[in-house]
Formats: sequence, structure tokens, C-alpha cells
Amino acid sequence: MAKIPQATARRLPIYYRYLNFLKDAGKERVSSTELAEAVKIDSATIRRDFSYFGALGKRGYGYHVDSLLAFFKKTLSQDKLTNVALIGVGNLGHALLNFNFHQSNNVRISAAFDINDDITGTIQNGVPVYPMADMQEQLTVQQIEVAILTVPASVAQSVADQMIAAGVKGILNFTPMRIAAPETVRIQNVDLTNELQTLIYFLDHFGPKKDEE
Ligand code: ATP
Repeated sequence: MAKIPQATARRLPIYYRYLNFLKDAGKERVSSTELAEAVKIDSATIRRDFSYFGALGKRGYGYHVDSLLAFFKKTLSQDKLTNVALIGVGNLGHALLNFNFHQSNNVRISAAFDINDDITGTIQNGVPVYPMADMQEQLTVQQIEVAILTVPASVAQSVADQMIAAGVKGILNFTPMRIAAPETVRIQNVDLTNELQTLIYFLDHFGPKKDEE
């Protein structure tokens, strides 16, 4: 995985989803052209992406669906269950707990944390909500290295520091704050307000998308 470029890595889930669809439909092989059409990524990019995985399509044959799927499954860690924590059970945190990635069998929020006594000690949609003081212990016991951050922006950095000190290696950051973290920690930012404003900006300035990116 180390040598796969980020842009390629980001396309992996798209390929994975479509290949699963092909498998369910009973297809054994697929050409880069067919894939290109289905996932709207040009076929040269697909061939280049796949070459990083060591998957070499044969001319006139295409790619073997099963072997590609096996590779993606492993690379995307879809073959093991990953427990994830959520910190901050407010409106957004609650929504994510209720959602709990139910369309995936392989990731789920298994522990939530908050400072509010009204909610700690309760179980929300099957997920126990612990006080912050229990974070270290729970993360260790449940072997959790990934956490979703849905606390107020004002405390985002200090809560992130606590998470990192407790061994978190990946943070899905829903706060608008940019988190400072050591290089050993990966942060993925999801700023919903920003995304929505960007969408509106593009619509206002360029109108609806035609074919090109
Ligand atoms: P949202 O921003 O998700 O809509 P909200 O408006 O309901 O949430 P916020 O004030 O943003 O509430 O807080 C989100 C949650 O984070 C609350 O449940 C709050 O108790 C919790 N929280 C606040 N400070 C901390 C902290 N230092 N550590 C952990 N949780 C915290």
C-alpha cells in the first residue's frame, strides 16, 4: 500500500464497490473500458491505478474480477472488522451513531465518549457512551485506533490531543478546526458546512456540471 499514490487510493473504494456489483451479477472479468464507463474514470487512469496493485489486465481479456476484489478487500481492510470511537455525542455525533455505517459489515462505532453527565453511562443505538476519563482504557481494550471527532470547534484541538495520547492513529475530523498532530497520526477532515458552501459557489458561478470534471 505504501507506494500507491493518494489519488489512486481514493479511487479504490469506487472500484471496490463496482467490482462487487459485477461479482454479484456473475461477471468473471471486466475490461478497463467497461469499468471506465461504469465508474466515470478514464480507462488510462484505471489501467495506471491497477498497475500499482500489480494487476495487469490481459489484452482482449481484461481483469479478473475475483482477484481484483480479493486485493481490494485486503487493501481496504474490508476483510476485518474495525472498531471506531466517536468523541462528542451532540447533534452530529448522534446522527453518526444512529447511522453507524450500517451498509458496511466492516466498520462500526463501538464506543462513544462525552463530557456531558446526562449522556455518559447511556447506550445510544447500541453504542455505550463513556465519560472521557474512560477513553484510554476503552480504546486499549477494544483495540481502537480510529476515532471520529464531533466535539465543538473550541475544544477540538485539546480533545484531539487526548485522543492521540490515548493511542488514536487516525482521526475523522468533523470540526471546522485544522488539527495539529504528530506525523504518525492521520487526520481526515470532513467539513460539511464548507462542502455545502463550495457546492453552492460552484453552482452559482459555473452552473450545473456537464460531462467534464
Ligand atoms: P453538533 O456540533 O454536533 O451539532 P451540538 O450543537 O449538539 O453538536 P456541541 O456543543 O457542538 O453540541 O457539542 C457536541 C458534543 O460534544 C456535546 O455532546 C458535548 O457534550 C461534547 N463535548 C463538548 N466538549 C467536550 C470535551 N471537551 N470532550 C468531550 N466531549 C465534549
